[in-house]
Amino acid sequence: MSKKILLLGGAGYIGSHTAVELLNAGYEVVVVDNYSNSCEESLHRVEKITGKKLAGIYEANVCDKEALEKVFSEHKIDACIQFAGLKAVGESVQKPIEYYRNNIDSTLTLIETMKKFNVNNIIFSSSATVYGEENKVPYTEEMHRGRCTNPYGWTKFMLEQILQDAAFANKDLAVVLLRYFNPIGAHESGLIGEDPQGIPNNLMPYISQVAVGKREKLTIFGNDYPTPDGTCRRDYIHVVDLAKGHVKACDYIFGMKGVEIFNLGTGTPYSVTEIVTTFERVNNLKLNYVYGPRRAGDLAESYANSDKALKVLGWKTEKTLEDMCRDSWNWQKKNPNGYRK
Ligand code: NAD
Ligand code: UDP
Repeated sequence: MSKKILLLGGAGYIGSHTAVELLNAGYEVVVVDNYSNSCEESLHRVEKITGKKLAGIYEANVCDKEALEKVFSEHKIDACIQFAGLKAVGESVQKPIEYYRNNIDSTLTLIETMKKFNVNNIIFSSSATVYGEENKVPYTEEMHRGRCTNPYGWTKFMLEQILQDAAFANKDLAVVLLRYFNPIGAHESGLIGEDPQGIPNNLMPYISQVAVGKREKLTIFGNDYPTPDGTCRRDYIHVVDLAKGHVKACDYIFGMKGVEIFNLGTGTPYSVTEIVTTFERVNNLKLNYVYGPRRAGDLAESYANSDKALKVLGWKTEKTLEDMCRDSWNWQKKNPNGYRK
């Protein structure tokens, strides 16, 4: 019988792409989301892409214990993927308590509910941000984590610790911490993609909105970094490759106990200028952009060593930067206002 995976925050950008890949791989999928940064439409599109039905869709806050217990009593869950969380770095500096409350509380409530229903497998969305400022690139999983530069990053740092402590105390628990690098791109159908509310913080949605005419110009934050062209370098990963990493993690988690940590990145960094010029080239358009001052808290370089995910999970990325730029634009062009009409 196929295994049932519960996606908390499954209507969001990474969750919806993961739902597609899990359904395609033969898993059953249940989603809980409060739609604080998404909407149910993404889930209908997941069903459209796959031609399969989700086993359950619940509008609920993951911090709401009773609501979660209802989900666990209605479905026999085999593993949970905890995507639910607030993720805007700048906003987390302005509203730290909201970030700690939502991100920490939701995960604690989930772990407690899992324990009550004897569910012992959890995959957690962590981030490359936990490597902090001290470590040298490329990052490997066994490095000591560094100091985070904002409350959002600290929630990931703390939740990694909380999950490791939980696994130490409960030997039945299996925890997979996935440290994502910079997900961009969209499903090639153009039916699901990233749908930021308000002014985008991240590079690719900002570029797409400039291209579609919603923003006047892109500002490249700093061109005096110690990198080949002076702009920051990041490990951009196609969201579909990232989603497939979750399928591999699900396949793996049923045969393990304790904690495993995996970087999910390509291992190849690209600069901001390279992203801009590739986007222009593959989509045959011109972007209005200027060079501006550095953004506070940005590192010159961040990229993964992803050998462990290949060796242990048998996962590696398949999509190119060209694919990422083409698919981001395809989604933006077909959905200029995201999921809203
Ligand atoms: P997203 O905002 O699109 O998805 C998160 C989802 O969680 C949203 O649908 C939101 O409505 C939901 N949510 C938030 N709080 C909730 C709560 N209390 N109860 C129920 N639902 C709740 O973000 P994403 O880009 O898909 O990111 C998913 C996870 O991956 C997040 O934890 C994020 O921090 C992490 N992550 C993202 C990136 C990135 O660049 N996108 C990088 C590293 C890590
Ligand atoms: N960036 C930029 N202009 C923007 C947004 C981002 O130059 O409007 C740069 C940013 O300085 C970083 C890279 O793009 O070097 C990726 O930023 P993003 O916020 O997408 O991800 P981060 O790596 O900061 O999590």
